[in-house]
Amino acid sequence: MAKKKSKREHVWLECSQCSSRNYRTSVSVAEGTPKLELQKYCKKERKRTVHKIRRK
Ligand SMILES: [Zn+2]
Repeated sequence: MAKKKSKREHVWLECSQCSSRNYRTSVSVAEGTPKLELQKYCKKERKRTVHKIRRK
């Protein structure tokens, strides 16, 4: 049985402009939710906006 040490969790990358969840990714949550801000393409607005991590 393999035991994973690092806690990883699937999160959403949510657009900070229109709150649509455009991307799914997994991050390490061993030290709390990482505060990431990424420039991603928002399909809804058809431009690049800041996306933030949103845990389920
Ligand atoms: Zn958007």
